[in-house]
Amino acid sequence: MIPVRFKGNEKDVVQKLCGDLLKRKPSQKNKNEYKRNLIRINEWCQKHIIIDGKSLSFGEVVKADFETLTKIVSILERENIPDDDKDFLIDYLYKERFSDKKYRLEFMDSLGITVCPYCNRNFVNSTKERTMCQFDHFFNKNKYPLLAVSFYNLIPVCSSCNHAKGENEIKYSPHDKKYKTNDLVNFDFSIIGMDYLFNDKDLKIELDGDKDFNQNIKAMMLDEVYQLHTDVVQECIKKTMIFNPDYLDYLCTEYKDLFDSKEELYKLVFGNYIDEESFGKRPLAKLMHDIYEDLFDIYYGEKFE
Ligand SMILES: [Zn+2]
Repeated sequence: MIPVRFKGNEKDVVQKLCGDLLKRKPSQKNKNEYKRNLIRINEWCQKHIIIDGKSLSFGEVVKADFETLTKIVSILERENIPDDDKDFLIDYLYKERFSDKKYRLEFMDSLGITVCPYCNRNFVNSTKERTMCQFDHFFNKNKYPLLAVSFYNLIPVCSSCNHAKGENEIKYSPHDKKYKTNDLVNFDFSIIGMDYLFNDKDLKIELDGDKDFNQNIKAMMLDEVYQLHTDVVQECIKKTMIFNPDYLDYLCTEYKDLFDSKEELYKLVFGNYIDEESFGKRPLAKLMHDIYEDLFDIYYGEKFE
């Protein structure tokens, strides 16, 4: 539900990642076989992957943006890469390169992603020595081995989402720029018992998803999973009651030396980022954003901003 974007100059970043991916490892014994594999796959791509009259090299398939990937997939539906190349693409290029700590960290750093884009619940940022994420191939790598290392096909996700998605096909990719998070899903809550301020089981979280996003909700069982966070909604209610708009204005003036902006004060008070671009920085940011929007409207008839 949270977009994934390459940081900085996207083209340069992807170009650098591609160069580092295809670089031969100095310790590699069978250099000629490696070269032969690359040349063969490159020739296959140039012969078969033709988009808008232009044939693509393997490097261009690796760097292809999400929109181009969907066009490549429709070509691969008709004619897939020979099975002989599958091992090289998946076992060598993908598994070996992406298990290399340095390369994996370079890839993750280039995305600057902190929280799993599928569930927005678990951290996926990693250190050099510890990986807290797995890579989901949006287009299944066994079905489309040619896309095993296409950067826009790789989604850094938490192990729980990767496991839940498995081989399921979903419609929304966080690399797809045609969607905006707030159009895909909106969280709401309902009160199902009057002790909701003290008993979080008296609250229910509701997910209202766009039809394309419903497949993601089902695959990742988000409907059920989010019920684990009714305590967060309870906290949101209490914070909204305490931090009313007048009080927030007072804090903003009284502590103006502590904050660069009103947004920073909100981040401190509500424990959350309020702009859509930053939802991927904190777990449950989208949930809290939507709930606070509702609550500010209910309690004060004002926008949460
Ligand atoms: Zn997840």
